[in-house]
Amino acid sequence: MKLSQNVNLKPYNTFGIECYCNEMIEIEDDNELLDLDFSQDFFILGFGSNILLSKNLNRVIKFQTKKIQILSENSEQIRLKVDAGVIWDEFVNYSVSNNYYGIENLSAIPGTVGACPIQNIGAYGAEVKDVIDKVEYFDVFTKQIIEINNKNCNFSYRNSIFKQDLKNRAIITSVTFMLQKNEKINTNYADIKNFFGDKNPNLFELRQAIISIRESKLPDYKVLGNCGSFYQNAIVEKNKLLEIQNIYENVPFFDFENKFKIPTAWLIEKTGLKAYKQNKVGISEKHALIIVNYGEASGKEILKFSEFVESKVFDTFGIKIDKEVNII
Ligand code: NAP
Repeated sequence: MKLSQNVNLKPYNTFGIECYCNEMIEIEDDNELLDLDFSQDFFILGFGSNILLSKNLNRVIKFQTKKIQILSENSEQIRLKVDAGVIWDEFVNYSVSNNYYGIENLSAIPGTVGACPIQNIGAYGAEVKDVIDKVEYFDVFTKQIIEINNKNCNFSYRNSIFKQDLKNRAIITSVTFMLQKNEKINTNYADIKNFFGDKNPNLFELRQAIISIRESKLPDYKVLGNCGSFYQNAIVEKNKLLEIQNIYENVPFFDFENKFKIPTAWLIEKTGLKAYKQNKVGISEKHALIIVNYGEASGKEILKFSEFVESKVFDTFGIKIDKEVNII
């Protein structure tokens, strides 16, 4: 375990917000969790790619555990137990390099393995819930390591039990994945289809395509601080969709569990806010779902700006959009 005092969290959050914690605790072995006092408040920091820091923190716990273990395999599948501290895209790279199928569409998502089940990360028609076998977590109430299988994680769209009943209780220590050895490629999303045309990509080509599509469409947090999608897509009833179609015939939408998913980026664009800037904060010029930090914006300024965007969408469409980013 490594302890550091009075740490500036600016390099540890992709928004690049300056905030401090009294103590940073870096965990190198899961058993070290047993030595910590959880009656004091704590925050688990992953890659800092889905958080908006609006205040200084007391204790920050960061996983530096990095193992990828093969638990079992046969000619068709492989089961891998991956430590919480492994960088998500390094695990995707490992899997693609070994010809394991299942997470290539989730290439280049910033984050750690420990964070991936929490919001059931998804991109290009893939969701991590479809390859998770089980999740292991440390229960801060009982101080025990618990294993929870996929079904009991209550996964749904950008959601899981870790955002609900187990919030502030479970510290994820590892995730076990079941990946496929036989070719199974998903190129259904329009951006991927357009990229390849008539060509059928292999696993490696698909990963490279997704990396370059993301690079071209999303602002680089190392240049302009951001947290990727700030909002979730809107899920609406049929009458709301019809109401919008009366005004915008070409509103994009997708069927979603007996309702309809409308891209929130489209809603924000229609309010005229794409590329809009207010002091040090704004909507990305590249992608309307992304709020960017143009300089030294504080978490509170970004939060206030996000509430302004939400109210604009509500006033225009009568739709309340939900944040994907966690406000700390
Ligand atoms: P896009 O292709 O411009 O599409 C806009 C939205 O429409 C997406 O968010 C996607 O929903 C939905 N969509 C598009 N094609 C669809 C289909 N065939 N079936 C169902 N829904 C469809 O999206 P984008 O903004 O460039 O993002 C591409 C992918 O990367 C998306 O899956 C997005 O979620 C993911 N992404 C995630 C983050 C993040 O920070 N979490 C950041 C950027 C992009 P879904 O979001 O449900 O896929």
